[in-house]
Amino acid sequence: MNRTQILIIVVIVVTFVIIYFIKRKSINTWIKQRYEDSKTAYYLNKLHPKIRKRAKEFLKKADDEGIKLNITSSFRTLAEQTKLYNQGRTTGGNIVTGAKAGQSFHNYGLAFDVVPSEGYNSNKWNKIGALGESFGFEWGGRWSKPDKPHFQDRFGYSWSALLSEVKNGNLKGDYVKV
Ligand SMILES: [Zn+2]
Repeated sequence: MNRTQILIIVVIVVTFVIIYFIKRKSINTWIKQRYEDSKTAYYLNKLHPKIRKRAKEFLKKADDEGIKLNITSSFRTLAEQTKLYNQGRTTGGNIVTGAKAGQSFHNYGLAFDVVPSEGYNSNKWNKIGALGESFGFEWGGRWSKPDKPHFQDRFGYSWSALLSEVKNGNLKGDYVKV
């Protein structure tokens, strides 16, 4: 074997080792790096622990397919939901939600809203919706009153069942047990 052949083999081996370590980096590191310029990482970490990892994997998969999704909302307290519900009704701005406090799965950390980096008028919503569904999320884009940015997992519960769980103090940390 001459020196050139040895050099080629060394380069190939080093390349594979580097690829291996890059791939091994956890999804959390990826999220942190990919979203250091936005609030997406913050919103992801506020999600219910039962859907947090899946939501991250959904974003990673979308990114792999050339769609960078940003999260614009995740967990909302009941007080925050009331403030949002009042918007356009008793306070200024446009109406943005029909859900009162407790009626949104955001109030349990079980819902999040995404928007692709090119903005709301993206032509990729159907692909985004299908991708989210492949991770087990229900997509708001299929509702009779579509809410394209919205994804959630009800775990078989109605919002009223979850609200009574919260009122009964059936919590684990900040989150309702599901
Ligand atoms: Zn939403």
